[in-house]
Formats: sequence, C-alpha cells, structure tokens
Amino acid sequence: MQSLIELLFPAQCAACRRLGSGLCSSCVPSAPPLVARLPSLQVRALGAYDGALRAAVLALKDGRRDVAQALAGRLAALVATDALVVPVPTSALRRRMRGFDGVVLLARLAAHAAGAQTIETLMLVAGDAQRGRLRRERLAGVGRFRCVSSCLAGAHLVLLDDVCTTGSTLEDCALALRSCGASVSEAVTVALTQRGGPGAQRVVS
Ligand SMILES: [Zn+2]
Repeated sequence: MQSLIELLFPAQCAACRRLGSGLCSSCVPSAPPLVARLPSLQVRALGAYDGALRAAVLALKDGRRDVAQALAGRLAALVATDALVVPVPTSALRRRMRGFDGVVLLARLAAHAAGAQTIETLMLVAGDAQRGRLRRERLAGVGRFRCVSSCLAGAHLVLLDDVCTTGSTLEDCALALRSCGASVSEAVTVALTQRGGPGAQRVVS
C-alpha cells in the first residue's frame, strides 16, 4: 500500500519541489549549526529561518512526516545520546486545527536517531489566550507553560522547538522545568530567525 501511495504521490522536496524525498540533498541543511545565547540557555539551530529551512519548517507545521524525518536526522547530531529531550508544546488550538504536533514528532524522531529519550512534560496553559494579550506580555511569556511531572530533580533536559525567534518561549519553558527541579541549559531548534539573537553566530562544531 505504501508503495502505491508513493507511486501516485511521490515525495517532493518541501523547498525546491524536486521529486524523491521530503528534503532533497541540496536543501537539507549541511552547514555547521548556528548558536545563540539567551539569558539562561544556549540554543543551537540547523540554520537561519529563511530559504529552504523556512520552507521545511512550514511543511513540518503542515504535517509533512517525511520533512520531519529529514530534519530529525540533522537535529540528532545536536542531541547527546544520554539527553532527555523535551518538545516545546504547540497550542491546543493549533494542534486541533492541524491534527498534528510537528514539534513532538520531530523530538521523537531526533531523539530516536540520537539514541536519546523524549519526555513530554510541558503543557501550554495559556496558549489559546495569547492573541488577546499585549505584545509585551506575550514577549515576557510569563507563566505560559507548566511542567506536569511532579519531580524532575537531577534530570538534565534539552528543549527542542522548530523556530527560535526572541527566545522568550524557550526561556519560559526552561523556567517551568526548573520549577520541578530539572536542570536545563541547552535548546536545539530547526531554525533561528534574524531576531534569534544578536548573539547568534555560526560556529564550527
Ligand atoms: Zn530541494
């Protein structure tokens, strides 16, 4: 059945539309990771949020599993084998609309490829109310996430998200995890936007 589907609807690169795979070998990110330093986290990303990577992130949001698989293969290189990877949750409204949480899928695939584990312990408590809030409140991001594990004392966690823009979401997630005793100092994302930090830099890994 799978091969019939593939025959009728061959995979197409999300960025350049070439037939064959979710992200072709020319479009899959291959440069060393970008690094941004947030107040309490170091973020590593596959690249800047533009061009092929932007197209890939949008395809991931639309539920392209083949694109998730291609990105996860690259993200796995940024995840240690003993890591506990925590996906940043998508709002319930967005998930309902799309019937899919691309970041959770990405985290599971990347952790699996790295030989690591995921722990889906964050819940978005105010995501659907975000639209009515003032921009400065949204950017402050205070109290948007809750950790649902009662005790994470001693756990070293790595956050995973699709895009890092201001970093406020990642910082807020880290705060919620630390309130349950976890230690969090790292995040990995698919892309960093221009605003992903004045501290953003490309480093040789
Ligand atoms: Zn391509």
